[in-house]
This record gives sequence, C-alpha cells and structure tokens, in this order.
Amino acid sequence: RPVIGVLALQGDVREHATMLERAGATAIGVRRPAELAEVDGLVLPGGESTTMSRLLETFELLDPLRERLADGMPAFGSCAGMILLARQALDGRDDQRQLDALDVVVRRNAFGRQVDSFEGDLDFTGVDGPPLHAVFIRAPWVEKTGDGVEVLARIPHTRDAPAAADRIVAVRQGPVLATAFHPELTGDERVHRLFVGIVQER
Ligand code: GLN
Repeated sequence: RPVIGVLALQGDVREHATMLERAGATAIGVRRPAELAEVDGLVLPGGESTTMSRLLETFELLDPLRERLADGMPAFGSCAGMILLARQALDGRDDQRQLDALDVVVRRNAFGRQVDSFEGDLDFTGVDGPPLHAVFIRAPWVEKTGDGVEVLARIPHTRDAPAAADRIVAVRQGPVLATAFHPELTGDERVHRLFVGIVQER
C-alpha cells in the first residue's frame, strides 16, 4: 500500500484519510517536515486557502513542500487545495502563497453568492462508470490552463446557472490532480482511486 499524506493543518482532513484508506492507501496526517518526507504522495484538503498558506509558513512546511512538488511528488488538491497548488489565484489576498505545482490560474469563490454552494453530476475523464456527484462549497474554478494541463471535468450546461457552464473544475498535470469540488464528501472513492493509481505509477 502506498503511504499518502493528508496535509493536516486545517480543513477536512479526516474525510480524505477515510477515502484514501478505502481506495487502497495508508493515510497519515502531515504537520511536520519529517512526516512530509515519509509520504509517497500528498492530499491538500478543502478548507480556507489563505489560512492554510499561512499555516504552511508557520509550520515550516512551505519550502519543503515546494521542493517535493518540484521533485515530482504526486499531489491531489480539493477546493482550497486546488487553489494552493495553482500558479496564481485571482481574488486571493496579497499574503496568499502559491505552491505553483499546476500551471493554472484559478478564481477563488468563483461561483458567487447566489450559488456559493451547490451539487451536480459531472463527466470526469479517467473515472469509469456513472457520472460523478460533485459537491461545491465556495468553490474556485480554473480560469486559464497552460500547456500540459489536462482538463478532466467541466460544469455542464444548466438553465439556472448559464455563467457557470463549461467552467473547468478538475485538472491534471503529470502527477498533480486537482478538483474544485470535494470528492471526499460523497462516499464515492473513484477520484481517490485515480489518485492512488497516480501514486502507484511513480
Ligand atoms: N473558498 C475557499 C478558499 O478560497 C475554499 C473553500 C473550500 O475549500 N471549500 O480557500
């Protein structure tokens, strides 16, 4: 079983750990550089990306994490985790730190107040079977992707949210996977299985 860390500074850590175990990995919480050094891959959970980036600095994890990512460590970020992995976050605060592991520009809280939390079914490249039920909570979307970034899922067209149609909500660049929604909250571990597979390939 691969050992996959869940960044445990803030956010929905336990939910990710449960899903990773169900998907065939051993999950450990990562709070210290020594723990980061032990893992084969890392999940960055949902939560609040500004808070998490501040805590990464406080816990002296920011530089070691950037080094491991630059070295090719697989990572999976959901929601706030996607924001942290991105090259740039729009509407971010000035003190927000980016891990720059994904060549994408994300927009924080992109879906706006009217629909700040919603659920829907998505087609997700690389996930077999029925459409994936996705839970969005003050979610970002991906506004720009660089070469080498594969788009895995987009918001489908619906009558009630035309501005959201076709927005990119899941991407992969090499061993780095990110979703704007929360696959850890639905009991469907297919996205975590995809990530465990990416870790096993390395
Ligand atoms: N809106 C949060 C942020 O900007 C992300 C929300 C989430 O992770 N559910 O960091």
